[in-house]
Amino acid sequence: MLSHMPPRPRLVRRGPGDAAPRLRAAGAPRLPRQRATRAPLISELLKAGGRSFSFEFMPPKTQLEEQQLWRAIRQLEPLKPTFVSVTYGAGGSTRDRTVRVTGKIAAQTSLTPVGHLTAVNHSVAELRHVIGSYADVGVRNVLALRGDPPGNPNAEWVPHPRGLRHADELVRLVKSSGDFCVGVAAFPELHPRSPDAESDTRYFVAKCRAGADFAITQMFFYAEDYLRLRDRISRQGCDVPVIPGIMPVTSLRVVEKALELGGCKVPPDLLDELRKADEKDDKAALREIGVGYAAALAGRLLGEGAPGLHFYTLNRSRATREIYQLLGLGMGASGAAGGRGDRGSSEGGMRGSPEGPMGGRAVPPSGGYPEGFAPGGEQSGSFAPITA
Ligand code: FAD
Repeated sequence: MLSHMPPRPRLVRRGPGDAAPRLRAAGAPRLPRQRATRAPLISELLKAGGRSFSFEFMPPKTQLEEQQLWRAIRQLEPLKPTFVSVTYGAGGSTRDRTVRVTGKIAAQTSLTPVGHLTAVNHSVAELRHVIGSYADVGVRNVLALRGDPPGNPNAEWVPHPRGLRHADELVRLVKSSGDFCVGVAAFPELHPRSPDAESDTRYFVAKCRAGADFAITQMFFYAEDYLRLRDRISRQGCDVPVIPGIMPVTSLRVVEKALELGGCKVPPDLLDELRKADEKDDKAALREIGVGYAAALAGRLLGEGAPGLHFYTLNRSRATREIYQLLGLGMGASGAAGGRGDRGSSEGGMRGSPEGPMGGRAVPPSGGYPEGFAPGGEQSGSFAPITA
């Protein structure tokens, strides 16, 4: 449980030779310490060169979902991602499950886990507690997010009275709590509440200046939106790696949800094709269209020099594995480092040109379909459907 008596602060020293003491709440979990086998930081993995390939999971609510999650994790583990991340429920509703699953990944797999954390409904004391819990289960990488108002993501954001207002403050809190690597969110189509690109960029760069080591984007369908975001932040002198988030659409519901939340532009041709397949109840065609589009987008982004890919898996492995196959990505695709069992290995790295397996392939500058995607027709690459 996170609710506890207001903590009495006491001094904790960071370590030998470190003069600066910091406060730790009595009764709060211990803050990060050096572990015998230290889990790698994403920042170290990214600095090692190469690209980052990662998978995102959600904490399960039921026993059945738990089994599905672990099946997906075990099926994706051989791909040796740079890291995997676990989301934090709106309103902090899944916090115990998120910490438990993330800790289990750290303890029982070869994968490097990233725990998401949001400021929603949390006082600073509670946030410190969750950060401490992450440290206790061996999680040293945290994705620091503001979160959305529970129930209605588009509603006015109201911070907790003793909490934090924006993600930059959470970045600072996590960074000041120990030896953590911190990621943040980025929005190729701008954050839905940002009035303009200028302010969106300014606040994104502020998160990086607060100490963020990397960023992951919201899902998007137009490569140009990602490239424009990258240009905007680079013009501000910010070189934090921004990893594009890829959502392979395997059901129409996913796209319609995105449209309903108003957070994402879906190419009309893609939507048309998905709807046609849905009307015919042709699930195989629908998934081929969605996976083919995502693979072509991913290939274009790698060709444009993106520092990797982050796959929204929805706790399923098949679409991600199919995209790996379409792109010709091998195991440990980053070339820098795979999971914890494969640090520094370039074996099985990306094949093809330096720009990546589909590198250099151009798409019409006006946007639309990435090359390699032919709506209703053949997709590029040898597409042998994965059935498991
Ligand atoms: P912020 O960076 O705080 O930005 C929010 C808005 O405030 C933006 O418009 C920004 O420009 C503005 N802003 C920022 N700083 C300031 C400032 N100092 N002054 C004024 N305005 C400011 N949600 C969950 O609940 N759980 C998850 O696990 C989760 N995972 C996610 C993973 C990824 C990769 C992404 C992209 C999003 C995720 N989200 C998650 C959603 C996220 O919490 C929401 O999109 C939220 O609305 C924004 O979070 P943020 O961290 O970008 O907020």
